[in-house]
Amino acid sequence: MKPTKVSGQLENEAIEAMLVEGRVFRPRPQLVADAVLSPDEYEEAVKQGRSDLEGFWEKAAEELDWFKKWDTVLDRSDAPFFKWYAGGKTNIAYNALDRHIKTHRKNKVAIIFESESGGRERMTYYDLYRAANKFANVLKSLGIRKGDRVIIYLPNIPEIAIAMLGCAKIGAIHSVVYAGFSALALRERINHTEARLVITVNGFHRNGEVIKLKEAVDEAMTASPTVETVVVVRRAGIETDMGDGRYLWFHDLMDGESAEFKTVEMDANDPLYILYTSGTTGKPKGVVHCHGGYGVGINRTLKWVFDIKETDIFWCAADLGWVTGHSYVVYGPLIVGTTTVMYEGHLLFPGPDRMWRIIEKYGVNILYTTPTTIRILMRFGAQYPKKHDLSTLRLLGTVGEPINPEAWVWYYENIGRQECPVIDTWWQTETGMFMVAPTPCNELKPGSAFKPLPGVHVDVVDANGDYVDPGKGGHVVVKEPWPAMLTTLYKDPEKYKEIYWSKFPGMYLAGDIATKDTDGFIWFLGRSDDVLKIAGHRIGTIEVEKAVTGHKHVAEAACIGVPDKVRGEVAKIFVILKKGVEKDEDSLVNELKAHVRKVLGPVVLIREIEFKDKLPKTRCGKIMRRVLKARELGLKEGDLSTLED
Ligand code: ATP
Ligand code: MG
Repeated sequence: MKPTKVSGQLENEAIEAMLVEGRVFRPRPQLVADAVLSPDEYEEAVKQGRSDLEGFWEKAAEELDWFKKWDTVLDRSDAPFFKWYAGGKTNIAYNALDRHIKTHRKNKVAIIFESESGGRERMTYYDLYRAANKFANVLKSLGIRKGDRVIIYLPNIPEIAIAMLGCAKIGAIHSVVYAGFSALALRERINHTEARLVITVNGFHRNGEVIKLKEAVDEAMTASPTVETVVVVRRAGIETDMGDGRYLWFHDLMDGESAEFKTVEMDANDPLYILYTSGTTGKPKGVVHCHGGYGVGINRTLKWVFDIKETDIFWCAADLGWVTGHSYVVYGPLIVGTTTVMYEGHLLFPGPDRMWRIIEKYGVNILYTTPTTIRILMRFGAQYPKKHDLSTLRLLGTVGEPINPEAWVWYYENIGRQECPVIDTWWQTETGMFMVAPTPCNELKPGSAFKPLPGVHVDVVDANGDYVDPGKGGHVVVKEPWPAMLTTLYKDPEKYKEIYWSKFPGMYLAGDIATKDTDGFIWFLGRSDDVLKIAGHRIGTIEVEKAVTGHKHVAEAACIGVPDKVRGEVAKIFVILKKGVEKDEDSLVNELKAHVRKVLGPVVLIREIEFKDKLPKTRCGKIMRRVLKARELGLKEGDLSTLED
């Protein structure tokens, strides 16, 4: 694809990058020696990914099973509606389950489930295969056909994986709605997808309480005309009114069904699921992913980035309501054939050491979580992880937001014993798979997600779509298609073209800003919508936040731009202090201002620093700066459907 310039963009829109992080962490030699992908193979892959994109991803596709091989690796004829593996037939559930049943993995543990009250359940690949088959038969008996939409409104319990895989097997399109969302958000998604079936639970455990999830469904059902059936999982020992004939118990339906099902052959580009984005920057977008390319992309990236070994226990602590849960709790780990951990409850229940307990109990080897979670656990201090044996851990990962160097180093030292690399992975609901991330062989700099993966063409460009010099900021783009890319926005192909493909023709626009350093490392600076414009300088919010969280008393920070007569904008910073910090507010404000000035220089003028106990976040823990800004300026707050609490 040849980028075409967009005219009318001004040079002075250049984004500046200010922070310099000098620390470099090298992996232990043993880790490199044992890695699935050796340093030489990595270099080779980078080269092939550049010179022969299609050959590179063709080889990756050969690791999966296909009912019929593709005719074309990448069909660009209807760009930007790219078709990976066009003509190929497969089913992601076949790759996640059916093919393993013929191997030693049949009896391997697929899912380790831990309930909030501490109960455990283990399902082998064969158990999960049988359960998914039964559920596919249930769907069939209820009249669900290929292409029908099914809403899955469940927390992290084994039934959510069974439901997703059952839908995939029959070719129905699932749309998981995070169990923390309200009846209103649920209803919107039901109506947008025109779902015929909803699967939910009567109640589940969260932070010591029973959440009666079905009640939200009851409320949503009053205005959800497309739904014919609601399947209810029985979990909490609570009284449940099954209402009108639309409500059926999951266990009753499953009991009557056969455990054999012939997985439906899907076109590589047939939709697998619709998932709405996190809503950090605006109204959530309905992203569509497919069976073929998506499966290829997550298999390849999970194996390489997290170096998956046959004996590993992999714990991605995300909720299944987010793309991280789809790609790296369920589909990716199962396609790869590893053991995936699923935890029902709150990560701080009953205390701040719950995560460390789980790691010790199951001998987790790889932990993947968010910077927000790390920062929250940091606030409680290192005494909690110290009480537990975390020696099984080999790799640590993060996703969701840029990680500030302090949190990175804390994670590395206190959880990773200074032995486990912290693998920062940049990707999006839209990308489906990791895009910018290291492998265990690479050198790391805390706060950078390293470089694009082999075969992935992420780059940083200026307002004209041109190359930016190292150290300068710009827009994050992807210059070539990648297999796990979204296929469209549900019911809105025009918006798909407009949001992602119109600013720089031929390039995918991510909506983030970043800089590359002289070694080619990418540093994410924030969202392009949130850029501060101070006296002609354009600065990413993340830089200011990283500078503030570098102060020893600060746990979390959020920065917004507020109007200023002279400078256009100046910064306002919201700060959460570490537990136990008691300082005179005025002196601390001055100290923080001086600290930011020392780190970033005089450009970032701070109007105000406000101390808070909480920041507005999405339910997956991302700071919603647009909400802070709207409140600060007395503007309309916009879509709040994904706001926590
Ligand atoms: P919406 O698109 O609705 O505003 P969202 O962008 O938060 O929501 P997601 O797809 O869940 O929805 O998140 C992707 C975004 O998260 C990325 O565009 C980026 O801003 C941020 N992100 C994810 N991982 C990283 C990372 N490792 N480093 C920096 N930023 C990250
Ligand atoms: Mg986004």
